[in-house]
Amino acid sequence: MSEEKNPAPSNFLRQIIERDLAQGTYANRHWAHAPGDAAQQAAGEPDPAKIRTRFPPEPNGYLHIGHAKSICLNFGLARDYGGVCHMRFDDTNPEKEEQEYVDSITDSVQWLGFSWQGFGDTNLYFASNYFDFMYRAAEALIETGHAYVDQQTADEMRANRGTLTEAGKDSPWRNRSAAENLALFREMRDGRHADGAMILRAKIDMASPNINLRDPAIYRIKRATHHNTGDKWCIYPMYTFAHPIEDALENITHSICTLEFEDQRPFYDWVLDRLAEAGLLAHPLPKQYEFARLNLTYVITSKRKLMQLVTENFVEGWDDPRMPTIVGLRRRGYTPEAIQLFAERIGVSKADSWIDYSTLEGALRDDLDSKAARAMAVLDPVKLKLTNWAAVFGAAQAEPCSAPVHPHHEEMGRRSFNLTPELYIEREDFMEAPPKGYHRLFPGNMSRLKYGYVIHCTGCEKDAAGNVTAVLAEIVPDTKSGTPGADSVKVKGVITWVSASEGVPAEVRMYDRLFTEAHPDAGGRNFIDSLNPDSKKVITAWVEPELANAAPDTKFQFERHGYFVADRKDTQPGKPVFNRAVTLKDSWQK
Ligand code: ATP
Ligand code: MG
Repeated sequence: MSEEKNPAPSNFLRQIIERDLAQGTYANRHWAHAPGDAAQQAAGEPDPAKIRTRFPPEPNGYLHIGHAKSICLNFGLARDYGGVCHMRFDDTNPEKEEQEYVDSITDSVQWLGFSWQGFGDTNLYFASNYFDFMYRAAEALIETGHAYVDQQTADEMRANRGTLTEAGKDSPWRNRSAAENLALFREMRDGRHADGAMILRAKIDMASPNINLRDPAIYRIKRATHHNTGDKWCIYPMYTFAHPIEDALENITHSICTLEFEDQRPFYDWVLDRLAEAGLLAHPLPKQYEFARLNLTYVITSKRKLMQLVTENFVEGWDDPRMPTIVGLRRRGYTPEAIQLFAERIGVSKADSWIDYSTLEGALRDDLDSKAARAMAVLDPVKLKLTNWAAVFGAAQAEPCSAPVHPHHEEMGRRSFNLTPELYIEREDFMEAPPKGYHRLFPGNMSRLKYGYVIHCTGCEKDAAGNVTAVLAEIVPDTKSGTPGADSVKVKGVITWVSASEGVPAEVRMYDRLFTEAHPDAGGRNFIDSLNPDSKKVITAWVEPELANAAPDTKFQFERHGYFVADRKDTQPGKPVFNRAVTLKDSWQK
């Protein structure tokens, strides 16, 4: 795999779709406004959707940034070509699915900005609703001599499968009659055999160079209660058999999946062709296309490993802002637009590669730059005392200042805050004995308080241990920003600040990458070993008074510091909590 920063977005899928549209490949399909077999669809109207794609997650976990790539791709193509993308839960495996995941998945896809509604249909489907048809399809394969019940043990089956260089061996049960197979398959369905005692296999070719075509399993006995069908079934279809059928029943035209399914494509076509021959499905049939899954540096996207992070409390839940889940990214401050922009930038290709994490962060910066309100926040505060306050302002304890909410968007309005005799500034903005080139506060130097006055630093106060406890400075009169005198004194340093008496303390969670290694789970390494111990630091910052009541999910650019979001769970009126979404610049760049 190569490491690429910005692989050129390739549009091989768009080319395929444009070719199909030009050739009218899918022009004559009919659609009954519901999934169905050939007869049902034929009775429907001409399909108003030019193409149909689908996003088919298994409801066994939360969606992550890799899924987002697939979502943007499938829903984006449907949107761009007059089609519709189905939201399908691939819930054919009875053991792992839960309602919690179904809810969070639909929520995440909608939040990303996509809809499965189209042409009068809701297009929210559950693969388990097709079990009846799948069973019927299996019987049809048996009747046409294309499937048989195998009673070899799992070990025998493995041994007889052959290898990449060696052909497999036919099962002794391979040539049973259709009638015998049918009777046995019905016994399987009726619960007359133990789990694993026999399976139904497609009868293709035990010598095929493609191991996936060496009589793959299509139905297994598994006594498990299914979340949708309960105990109706004790046999369940295998994924590779179920998936093409789900696509066909839903009139899918372009079935887009990740590269690891490339070797399964011949079986995908085989299943559909046999069922079309048997009259159960109609041409044109769906076609499978593969693209490279997203691999993102500093991120893991394995559901199992993400689950481990949650259950072993390395993070604080699926929506921890450090998680690459959609709910985590959302809480971190990511916007749907930033994620869509990311998906657009990484493009779609047929070659596996690693995308640098900075590409994701860059998309967020680029999206928030034009949207986020600006605010001043002091993250590492030290007091600044304006010692000549009374001489300049008399008895008044506050001097009103204002700033644009956004420097390039006047229409976003202005924000107001007061200059007061005592402020907080960043500790790093004062040095008693600065190195050459330091332009901020040191005794004898002048700097500008942003949106305020030029000040002249006179010294500092210290505690017994020699730590600076307050910086001392004098206001230079008539230098207020925005007044004619503002340019009368030229200074190089600009200091951000928050009033000590009117500013608001806020909990700020300084998030960073969850892993210190670019490839946390590469080469059999235990990804837990490369967790970043500094991925979360909680500090108390001082923020502009108007931020006291920041609404959950509101994004800000804290000037100089980066983009922050009011935490959607923990922020409360008067008690704001902010998450650092991303720094202003990439600090990980080497
Ligand atoms: P698992 O098999 O571990 O349960 P999965 O990642 O295959 O997880 P699914 O729920 O089956 O999860 O995925 C739904 C869809 O998302 C599939 O079409 C899959 O191809 C796509 N997808 C999953 N991970 C990625 C990824 N990293 N990049 C792009 N697409 C992905
Ligand atoms: Mg999967």
